[in-house]
Amino acid sequence: LPADREVPVLAPRRVTRQLHVGEVGVGSDFPVSVQSMTTTKTADVNATLQQIAELTAAGCQIVRVAVPDTDDAEALPAIARKSQIPVIADIHFQPRYVFAAIEAGCAAVRVNPGNIRKFDDKVGEIAKAATDAGIPIRIGVNAGSLDKRLLAKYGRATPEALVESALWECSLFEEHGYRDIKISVKHNDPVIMVRAYELLAQQCDYPLHLGVTEAGPSFQGTIKSAVAFGSLLSRGIGDTIRVSLSAPPVEEVKVGLQILESLNLRARGLEIVSCPSCGRAQVDVYKLANEVTAGLEGMDVPLRVAVMGCVVNGPGEAREADLGVASGNGKGQIFVKGEVIRTVPEADIVETLIDEAMKLAETMRES
Ligand code: SF4
Repeated sequence: LPADREVPVLAPRRVTRQLHVGEVGVGSDFPVSVQSMTTTKTADVNATLQQIAELTAAGCQIVRVAVPDTDDAEALPAIARKSQIPVIADIHFQPRYVFAAIEAGCAAVRVNPGNIRKFDDKVGEIAKAATDAGIPIRIGVNAGSLDKRLLAKYGRATPEALVESALWECSLFEEHGYRDIKISVKHNDPVIMVRAYELLAQQCDYPLHLGVTEAGPSFQGTIKSAVAFGSLLSRGIGDTIRVSLSAPPVEEVKVGLQILESLNLRARGLEIVSCPSCGRAQVDVYKLANEVTAGLEGMDVPLRVAVMGCVVNGPGEAREADLGVASGNGKGQIFVKGEVIRTVPEADIVETLIDEAMKLAETMRES
């Protein structure tokens, strides 16, 4: 953000151990980062790398790939080598794929304690291999695949059961002196998920990966994730996030970045401040806001653009923004850095705003 804009945050980060997933630092010394997961068959190297490239372009910082089969494990070396962002191998049931992922050069491995019993006699070897490779392990507990022993004890996937499962798994690795661990305790109910992370945050200092699992289609999943992540991140809890949507993974990344930007945990990019419109509006605000948003898509500087429907709040908001318009009487007053620079006919508002935004962006890049 520009030096003249304050960046208040709601709480300091919870202090954690630090680790690195490839180049990306994870823990309280580093910014919260955004992850996603590919939906391609991992064995299809080209399709997977293509999707990783799209995710990278969208701002994804760490990507996870599923490794259910031997073909997928065999694809890992090429994917890990060619991906521009660190790759985490997601492994269930098969310890030999953990070793394959480490050997392949993956930046981390995710294991699930719910099916870890098959790993029991392998934990020491996995800890040693991960230590030798210098990579972390994510212990990813999921309500849908909770350890049967804990399901029997708690009756269902309660916050306490999720936390006990995660910490039990951590203890197995700790016995071998391995602590390069990140934890997630995902549930599809944001309330249970939030409570689980609160408990976990009190009981360990490992970095935490936030996720509402199976959050649903875009609209519902976005809201569930925003509410749950907002509750935790606003109190400093959470070091990496993944928004799980039944939608293309690029959408997950966009939502994740927007959540972090909304909390000032990430520098804001283009921000459109547009009014909801009301009976006073003298212009079609929705159309105007959509056209300005589309016209400025991809802009890579932190620009705040106000699109306001009338002269009640319009001039005030437009003045506060880098650039803005207050509409009325078939015209738009164009503001740049708080000053009215000109008044244009309604038909020219979008084009004028885009031109002025380009000029401002150029100046910002030069300074
Ligand atoms: Fe209504 Fe004007 Fe406020 Fe927009 S800026 S919501 S049109 S009063």
